[in-house]
Amino acid sequence: MDVLVIGGGVSGLTCAVTLQTRGHRVELWAEQLSPATTSNVAAAFWYPYKAEPPERVLGWAATSHTRFLALAPDADAGVRVRTAIEVLRSPRPRPWWADAVPDFRDASAAQLPAWAHAGWAFTAPVADTRRYLPFLRAWFEREGGVVRTQRVEDLAALPGAAIVNCSGLGARTLCGDATLFPIRGQLVHVQDPGLDAIVIDEDDPRGIAYVVPRGDDCVLGGTAEVGDEELAPREATADAIVARCRGLVAAHDLGAAPRRALAVGLRPGRAAVRLEAERLADGRTIVHDYGHGGAGVTLSWGCADEVATLVERALGRA
Ligand SMILES: Cc1cc2nc3c(=O)[nH]c(=O)nc-3n(C[C@H](O)[C@H](O)[C@H](O)COP(=O)(O)OP(=O)(O)OC[C@H]3O[C@@H](n4cnc5c(N)ncnc54)[C@H](O)[C@@H]3O)c2cc1C
Repeated sequence: MDVLVIGGGVSGLTCAVTLQTRGHRVELWAEQLSPATTSNVAAAFWYPYKAEPPERVLGWAATSHTRFLALAPDADAGVRVRTAIEVLRSPRPRPWWADAVPDFRDASAAQLPAWAHAGWAFTAPVADTRRYLPFLRAWFEREGGVVRTQRVEDLAALPGAAIVNCSGLGARTLCGDATLFPIRGQLVHVQDPGLDAIVIDEDDPRGIAYVVPRGDDCVLGGTAEVGDEELAPREATADAIVARCRGLVAAHDLGAAPRRALAVGLRPGRAAVRLEAERLADGRTIVHDYGHGGAGVTLSWGCADEVATLVERALGRA
């Protein structure tokens, strides 16, 4: 084995596939695998939400956008290409991430709720994590990658010429990173009434709202509760999410759509994504790739490319 990747969420799986594709022999170890990771909970549409710093996030997000569009024609990947509509309640400057998408534009009046001040439209891939994460794992294993269910306590004691740390919020204990913090997110899954666009409202004073159709179901979000680690869904929160989302889609009554499930996950919040190489006492290198906040899917391919470059530099193969 050349490289050992820790973590079986979207970051770890994408790094494992990327490293393997670049010719390395790779193993992936994780305490939890799909469907039990935070990545499985994600609504998983492309949107750089609660991830810093902008100058690095922009590049990672742009790379991932291109890669997701390329994966979409593969029927097994579970990636769809949607139009996303961001609703504005008051004037706002062009967002810092606009250059990461190829077709950022003003939304037309027909795409917006009647009460909206204005809006933006852009192409946003959506990864259905029920299919996408198993797809990544199958891709990795088909090419010879090894996956092991294994909790890790000490990164320095691991085998491998190089190690990649994609442990998400688990890095709080695995590397004693006290700057990581949970950002609780709750979602409501309802039957998809036949929507074709993602709709986002970041400015609702009651909290963020988004509607993400996935074909058989539609993901309604959300919340961003900093420091809250409660994994049990709250009924009152679910009702509030549905109420906010109803106002975004006039043509269908999302309140009447049959409810399928409630979901909760803890986003790995951090002042900045940690993507850097660290030298161990024995001379080997660990590349850290965690703290992606609300954008782990959005940044996954761009981060994985940078991780692979750092690994290759450490192995003297760059
Ligand atoms: C409600 C909600 C909605 C979201 N929506 C979106 C969205 O639309 N778009 C988007 O881009 N992002 C979204 N996100 C954010 C996204 O889910 C995260 O940024 C992403 O899942 C982080 O992925 P990760 O692989 O780094 O971590 P995780 O998915 O948490 O995976 C961490 C892995 O590390 C393993 N691990 C941890 N500690 C150890 C240890 N000691 N030993 C071994 N293994 C260990 C875990 O078992 C797991 O396999 C959302 C999140 C939530 C909660």
